[in-house]
Order: sequence, then C-alpha cells, then structure tokens
Amino acid sequence: MGNALHEQLVTSLRGVGPAMAEKLASLGIHTVQDVLFQLPSRYQDRTRITPLSGLHAGLHTQVEVEVVGNEIAFGRRRALLVTTSDGSGGRLTLRFFHFSQTQKARLERGARLRCFGEARRGPRGLEMVHPEYQHLDDSDDGPEETLTPVYPSTEGLQQAGWRKLTDQALARLEVGGDVHDLLAGIPTGSEVLPTLDDALRTLHRPRPEDDIPALIEGVHPARQRLAFEELLSHRLAMLQLRDTARAHSSPHLHAPGALRHALLESMPFTPTGAQTRVINEICSDLAVPHPMQRLVQGDVGSGKTLVAAAAAAQAVESGVQVALMAPTELLAEQHFHNFDAWFSPLGVSVGWLSGKLSASQRRASQADINAGHTAITVGTHALFQSDVSFDNLGLIIIDEQHRFGVAQRQALRDKGPHAEAVPHQLIMTATPIPRTLAMTSCADLDYSVIDELPPGRKPITTVAVAANRRGDVVERVAAAIREGRQAYWVCTLIEESESLAAEAAEETAEALAEALQPHQVELVHGRLKSAEKESRMQRFKRGEADLLVATTVIEVGVDVPNASLMIIENPERLGLAQLHQLRGRVGRGSAESTCVLLYKAPLGETARERLSVLRESNDGFEIAERDLALRGSGEIFGTRQTGEMALRIANLSLDRGQLPSVARAADTIRSSHSNRIAPLLARWLGQHASDYAAV
Ligand code: ADP
Ligand code: MG
Repeated sequence: MGNALHEQLVTSLRGVGPAMAEKLASLGIHTVQDVLFQLPSRYQDRTRITPLSGLHAGLHTQVEVEVVGNEIAFGRRRALLVTTSDGSGGRLTLRFFHFSQTQKARLERGARLRCFGEARRGPRGLEMVHPEYQHLDDSDDGPEETLTPVYPSTEGLQQAGWRKLTDQALARLEVGGDVHDLLAGIPTGSEVLPTLDDALRTLHRPRPEDDIPALIEGVHPARQRLAFEELLSHRLAMLQLRDTARAHSSPHLHAPGALRHALLESMPFTPTGAQTRVINEICSDLAVPHPMQRLVQGDVGSGKTLVAAAAAAQAVESGVQVALMAPTELLAEQHFHNFDAWFSPLGVSVGWLSGKLSASQRRASQADINAGHTAITVGTHALFQSDVSFDNLGLIIIDEQHRFGVAQRQALRDKGPHAEAVPHQLIMTATPIPRTLAMTSCADLDYSVIDELPPGRKPITTVAVAANRRGDVVERVAAAIREGRQAYWVCTLIEESESLAAEAAEETAEALAEALQPHQVELVHGRLKSAEKESRMQRFKRGEADLLVATTVIEVGVDVPNASLMIIENPERLGLAQLHQLRGRVGRGSAESTCVLLYKAPLGETARERLSVLRESNDGFEIAERDLALRGSGEIFGTRQTGEMALRIANLSLDRGQLPSVARAADTIRSSHSNRIAPLLARWLGQHASDYAAV
C-alpha cells in the first residue's frame, strides 16, 4: 500500500463497513485524505473551569460545582432542578427534563460535578439545560488539556464517530502518510502559514501549546492555510464558469443607438454621470458577440431603472427581444408601467407576463412573445418558466435579484433562440456586494457601480423611538400629512408568514385610519390580488391616499417621490440591508425625509448597535460592511439561502485580508498548474464541483 492518503479508501479504516462507506460517499468522502478535510466547525473550551460568579448567559462554559439541593418542579413540563454553588458567590441551576431515579439520587446535596453547557437566564437565575456532566472523585485528573473539536453534525454520524474516523486518519499521517498538497510552490502571500500536514493536525487536535484563543476566534494560521485553499477553489470554480459562459456566442447588439438617445431625450431629467458611464459599459458589452454577464450595483434611488431601459433600447434597436424580470408582482407591475409609458411613444411594444394572469390572458401574452410581436416583456419569475418561449431573445435583465444563483443564471441561457445565440444578462441590485463575495461567489460576473445619486436628494434622517411613544409618532405622521406630504407605515413580523403579516397590517391600518381622520389611509399586503394591490398603489402614487400601511412587500423598488416619512415597526426583526432598502422608499423627492424606527424596548446590545448603524449612515456600502462585521458572516448577501457558497472553513469576514493573494494564486494556477484545478474543486466543492464544469 502506497503512502498517499488519497489512494487509501475509507473502507480501510476500522468501523467503516458498507453502510458507513455509503453514508460517507454521500458527503463526498471516499478516501482517508477526504476524512482529513472534514474539519471541525468550532471548538469547545473545556480546558478552563469558570467560577460561577463569572458565568455569562449565552456562552458555553465549563464549571465545577457542588450540589446544594434538588427538587422536582411540576410546571408546564416536569423537570429535575439541581441547585449548585462553587464558593465563588454565584449559583447555577441544572435543569433536566429527562432523568432517572438513580440519576436523581446521585445528584444529592454534597455531590461534586464538572459540567459543560450553555448558561441561560432562567426563572431562578442562570441555568444550564441538560448540561454534559460528570461526577468528580479524587482520582479525577482535571479538565481537558486542549480544545475539543466539534465537527459539523451529520445525520447518522455523531461527534464520537467523527472523532474515531479522524483519529485513525491522523494516525496514518503520523506514520508517514501523505496528503496531496495542491498549493506546493504557489505563493500564498504569507510567511506564517503552516504546511498542510501541520495545519490539519492542529485543526483536528489542537495541542495545549497551540494558540487557543486564536483557534477559538478563527484567526489561527492553521485555519487560514485551509481557508486560503477553500477560497481559492471557489474562485477557480467561478472563473471556470465564466470561461464557459464566455465561450458561447450571443447576438451582436451594435445598433447606432438612435432609440437609446430618443429614450433619454424623452426623460424629464438628464442621466447622472454614473448612469451614463454604466450605460456605456453595458453597450460595449452588448456589441461583443459573446454573452454579457454584468452585475450593476447602485444604492436605492440611484436610478437603476433608467439604466435598464437604456440597455433595453439598445437591444431592441439591434433587433432582438428583451425580458425584464423583477422579484415581486408589485415591482414588476411598476416596471411595466414605466417601460410602457417610456417605450410606447417610441413605437416599441411592451408586454406583461405574471403568474397571476388568467389562462387566456397568459396564452395571448405568450403568443405575442413567441411570434416576436412583443419587443420588451416585463414580468416576474413566470417569464422563465419552460412553457414561455421567445422568438429572438437577446437580453435578459434581472432587477433587485442579488440572490440569483449560478444554476439559475445558467438556466437562462437556454432561453435563446438557438444554441449559437445565448442572451446577454444584466443583473441589478441595490445590495452592495462585499469585496469578498465579488472576488469569490460573483467572480464570474463583470461589475459596474452607480456610485452617484441624482442631484437634489437630501439625506434621510433616521431616528429610533421606543414603542411606548407610539402616540407621538402618529402625531408626527398627522403633521407631515397636513404639510401635504405622504408617509409609509411598515409592519413587520417575526415569522415569514405573509398571511399573519397581512392580518397585523390590516389591524394597524384600521387603527391608524381612525386616529388620522379625515386623512386617507391605504393598505397593501401580499395577500391582495395583484390588480387590487396595483390600484391601491396607484391611488397612493397619485396622492389620493396620504398614508400607505404595508408589509415588507414594498421593500424593493417602489417609487413615490412625494413620500417623505417612513415608520418601520419592530425594525429589530429585519436585517440591516433590508431596513436600508425599505428606508430607500423615502428620500426620493426634494423634501427632507425621515425614517422612524419604532422599536420595542428593551433592545439587546447587538440590536441597539445595529439600529445605530442605520442612524449614522445612509450609505449602503458602509451599512453592509458594518453589518458584516457585526454578524461576522456573509449572510447579508444571502449566500446562505442559495446554499451556493456554503463555505466549510473560510469566513468571508475573517479571511478578507487573504483575498488579494487568493486572486493571484488563482491566476498562477490557471496559467501554470491547471492540472490542480480539478482536484481542488473536488476537495472543496465535493459533489457540487460538476456544477462548475469547464467547457
Ligand atoms: P433604483 O431602482 O436605483 O432604486 P429608480 O430607478 O427607481 O432607483 O430611480 C429612483 C428615482 O430617481 C425615480 O423617481 C427616477 O425617476 C429618478 N431618477 C432616476 N435617474 C434620475 C436622474 N438622472 N435625475 C433625476 N432623477 C432621476
Ligand atoms: Mg429599482
């Protein structure tokens, strides 16, 4: 048997029979080397004993205590409560819902225990629910000497199972087994990164002399060595995807631009410098016979719709059809209205397709699209269903859709008329893309930024007000309305249930209509029929309603420049990016705008900090960066949801500093070591590696 661990099958490990081998295979683990790349996702610190007086709620902690007494509580659920102390002045209750009589008998007054668990605030002070514990006796040899690794949990394979597997794999390393170092000879930009073997050993079994705080905080060089490799693999995958996309042919959209100029001339304003620059970037992409894949980022209110319209004009004049997709009915309808108003006078037909059309309307709409009578079709996801076929689709525009996955982007390619004509793609988002993501999960896209707002905008003033001053806030709304302004009142809910949210909004709307008489209150939520929603929105837009009560359906895109006051109830329930989006519904006209965050007191520390980020900044980029820092992960960009970039060990916040070196290493590998790409992708992307297949 050779010493290369990637040639030794998992079945050569003790305890791995056919069933276990199959389970491991489903995780992409086939060899002993693969086992070593299943890294702990975190550590438990059982090296220290924390005195009870220093215990904090929310932290996993190890304590040594003596039982003071125990009792059975008959509340909602029967539980054994064990009161303990440790002489430090603190007290801790251990709560067990499942327990045996023997267990109870041994937890008698005077028993000494070492417990590990998460301390929580309970009715009688701090408690641990079902802590792991052991009885201490004189032969005890003290706490663990090193950190305890915690492996990502998998069904059917518990921590003990992972430990057994990794123990054996590490033992093979000790006797001279080789892991394939795919970074050999590639500069990593850091002198301190350990070798691959050392990094794996440290991460799986930290030693007492290792820098334990660094491991816990995720800044240990051993972790960085592997994070580097993982980020590199993701970047390579995305670059490969980009090459594949670029290799296709696309229609050559190089019309002189008369329609685009006519469109811009007909607008009541001139484009900003940033809009003009981005329009030009798009038009040069369109003039190349390979698919454009461009992401346009522009903060709320920066005027992305105009950029989309200009791109559409260029495509239409060049003789192809355009599809414009928005994520919600409301936004799609608004775009349809705008595009129809702009393009119809220029003799360009604009069509509409949504899931809510009746069967016959839908058939008629599809027939026009199919026959090529509709030049620009606006709609929701319904546009991309398999039964919709275009005559000659040349450009796809996707609005407010940063969560648009690789797979979805690929599916759109098939909407072209034939294999030799893949549509160009333009994706627009208000969500800033942190540099980390731009370089990894979005590396297959070109990137434009609209970094300038139309002139005359005044910054939005944001204030936080506790819910017990709701009356003052209502009075403020009334005052704004008396001055001829309009306002939004947004209701949020914890659950993602549009029907509960709709109910809450209904109640709020009723109460506000009562309080604000004789002013007009309108209500929109996701349960209304789209025609109804549209007509209510139009009423608000025309100024016939003074206050619009809404659920977060109005989050993206809605544009009513006269609205200058927004109240957001329970803002602590939403993410910062979403709040910033919502707030962007005001501040679109020339009036001074205000956003009131009506929160329920008391706020936790993080919640308070997050809301103050919004008070202090109107800049989407800065907010995203600070959100990232507060949350310590890439959640704002929604990669979690798409599951597309499920990172195993790298952390987009912690590893930002490595990205320039990662990009350089990717170039080196592509130019001089391209045979390493496939093994890197297999190692880090596992069974998803084939989604990023090369041409
Ligand atoms: P976004 O989609 O980027 O949030 P919109 O495209 O909805 O922004 O534009 C916001 C508002 O700004 C709209 O009322 C639009 O008509 C207006 N607008 C767009 N571009 C300009 C410009 N160059 N000058 C003045 N107003 C503009
Ligand atoms: Mg928009």
